[in-house]
Amino acid sequence: MTGQLKWNCQDQPISSHTRVRFWCDQQVELRFDDQRTFGQMWYVPPDRSLASVVTAFQTLGVEPLSADFTVDYLVAKLNLSKRPIKTALLDQTIVAGIGNIYADESLFLAGIHPLRSCHSLTVKEMTKLHKGIIQVLQDGLEYGGTTFSSYLNSNGTKGNYLDRAWVFRRTGAECRVCGNKIDRLKIGGRSSHFCPVCQPQ
Ligand SMILES: [Zn+2]
Repeated sequence: MTGQLKWNCQDQPISSHTRVRFWCDQQVELRFDDQRTFGQMWYVPPDRSLASVVTAFQTLGVEPLSADFTVDYLVAKLNLSKRPIKTALLDQTIVAGIGNIYADESLFLAGIHPLRSCHSLTVKEMTKLHKGIIQVLQDGLEYGGTTFSSYLNSNGTKGNYLDRAWVFRRTGAECRVCGNKIDRLKIGGRSSHFCPVCQPQ
């Protein structure tokens, strides 16, 4: 989303978008700026579990960079579903933390068209998708995430994954693998970017 946690000197003027300030005794403070007010914050008392306070955690699927995220898990979750794979990847109860960018990018790496229904995918394709999800998330971490408009990390720098994205927000540009033009479709209300040649339907 568009909010940001950022370290500031305490004498720095407060933005009109600053919602929360964390003080510390070294003349700096951590400020949470959130222009669009989509952000949420919880206090978890030491005697409570995270999931008992932040109840959304109870329904989240596995972490994609954890040992629980296996090909078998993905196959078990997807092989009975008739939904488009793009929609299923954005379902946070299946795999937690895959947003629109990394869903498009991992489908590209796996060579899977975003409209393919989950149950049509072979185990070989699911295996490639599993590998692609891990790869794009690791690349995203390495390149500091993806910057939209005002997003900055806590040091005030922008993420630069988008500079090297395979398909995301590259509509009309040349595919980095085959040279054909990247296409875009709306699936479940979300823009989906893909290469029609590398990801045939
Ligand atoms: Zn291509």
